[in-house]
Amino acid sequence: MGAALAFLALVVLGGAAGFAGGLWVAARRRAVATPLPVPAPLRTVAPPRPTLNPVQVLRGEDLIALAERDARELTEELLPFLVDVSRQHGASEVTLWRDVGGDAATLEIVAWTGEGLPPSGAAWGTAPERALVAWSAAEQMVGFERRDGEPRLAICPVRFASGEPAGALVLSAVDKFITPRDALRDWLPRHAAQVGRLVSLFSTRNEVARQSRFTRALLRIARDLQKAHEPGTLELSLCGYAVEVTGGEFAMLLRWDAAQKAGRVASFSERTPYALRESAVTTASVAGAACVEGTPAFWEDARFLAERGGLLREDDGGIVAGSMAVLPMMRGSDCIGALVVGSSIPGVLRALEIRNGSVLSALAVNALEAAWELAETSRRSRTDALTGLWNRRHFDEQLERELAETDRYGGTCALVICDIDFFKKVNDTYGHDAGDVVLQQVAAVLRDGVRTVDICARLGGEELALILPKTAHEGAVELAERLRQRLEAMTVAYAGVTIRVTVSMGVAIYQPGSDAKGGLFKRADENLYAAKGQGRNRVVS
Ligand code: GH3
Ligand code: MG
Ligand code: MG
Repeated sequence: MGAALAFLALVVLGGAAGFAGGLWVAARRRAVATPLPVPAPLRTVAPPRPTLNPVQVLRGEDLIALAERDARELTEELLPFLVDVSRQHGASEVTLWRDVGGDAATLEIVAWTGEGLPPSGAAWGTAPERALVAWSAAEQMVGFERRDGEPRLAICPVRFASGEPAGALVLSAVDKFITPRDALRDWLPRHAAQVGRLVSLFSTRNEVARQSRFTRALLRIARDLQKAHEPGTLELSLCGYAVEVTGGEFAMLLRWDAAQKAGRVASFSERTPYALRESAVTTASVAGAACVEGTPAFWEDARFLAERGGLLREDDGGIVAGSMAVLPMMRGSDCIGALVVGSSIPGVLRALEIRNGSVLSALAVNALEAAWELAETSRRSRTDALTGLWNRRHFDEQLERELAETDRYGGTCALVICDIDFFKKVNDTYGHDAGDVVLQQVAAVLRDGVRTVDICARLGGEELALILPKTAHEGAVELAERLRQRLEAMTVAYAGVTIRVTVSMGVAIYQPGSDAKGGLFKRADENLYAAKGQGRNRVVS
């Protein structure tokens, strides 16, 4: 079993680091002191896991191309050797097999020499031959299949330099070998040992090359991070980087609030399962626990993760994941977020990949915090403190932007200005604080009543406004009327009294070329004035 899988690691991934299925990596990583990764000691121990599809295992076309090149190079490296072996013993074919399933049911060729066409894995061999391969690999013994008393097939298990089983070397003869059977029994293990050494050397080379690619990528990323300031872009880039340096299938960036002990998914890469994309992160989940503890969590085989609770929330179980890692981002002892890397195939993420991911999360902390802080400052400077709506400054900018968009792409844009009727009376009757509460609730009705693309702002005092992009006259009036009715029906409970208010609204529509940009606001304001003049509690357009 291990033979096939370890071999895959060698041939396809070009290396194998330590495996630790179901391991909870307890090492606490701090943002400041994380060193750059060092190559993992070369081990080829593999836990039982299903057949890996190399195309799925590897991320991106680059890696696939590299893996194919590595496999091709290994074959080329081994061929002259196999040709020598075939000449020495008079074999018609020499094949190095790896046993994918560990039971000789699926055999794959690593290298082959002979005449005609190479055998294909699926079609190769009779049942006894397959059984012989399996037996030879399991018992680590040389085996023969005989015809008329003469061996015509000789099989010898191949091990890596580490001693782990790697596959089988098979010699076949059309008639019989020129080397006598006893000599073959003596020679084959020596050939096999040589093959094992070559394969192991190759693996070391590939592993070092792979690690060096990762390290180069990390250095490039460290430089790029210094230039990133916009949170959305940065978050998404980080997910891409995480996939890049771990070879995972997908990555998510979680934002964690250490004080609230709660988090959310801030961004995710393309192949993230849909079930995980929009989710709050709770402490009862695996990711939440990792953030609270500030400790990376890593499952090389994560198929049993669902039984331990969800990844992001207690009840999101049944995550289709093979390999999974949660890598908290720490600022001092506070967790500010985490990178979650996953693959649907067990065994894809190994200690080495996780180390790269941890280096990335440490590198990202400062850039991410700076971007988040900047965005928060900017948001605050554009938000009205009392109502939480956008303020006049943001309104002006957005209006200008929307009108420019309308000029460029055509269509119409609507503006609604809304003023509370007799608001002074509310203040005079119930007090200024009551007026504040009324204002907040009016604002909430407007905000909840519009689309996410609409801009809802407080222009000042008790005057609020809506920018409705790509909206025509009819739609705007309909919306304004609906909101007016809702506000008319709304009651505000304050200090034992019930307060009701109404609003007047002025609507205006912008069309490219309809008037100068200042004209839109003026027309809406005139309509609002008209609504007041006509008795208030109405929409004028
Ligand atoms: P109209 O129907 O003509 O709009 O009458 P009105 O009383 O609403 O209009 P007016 O402009 O005379 O009064 C607006 C009042 O809104 C005056 C001001 O004290 C009050 N106001 C402005 N901003 C706030 C605020 O933030 N909180 C509270 N409580 N009152 C505010
Ligand atoms: Mg008013
Ligand atoms: Mg007013």
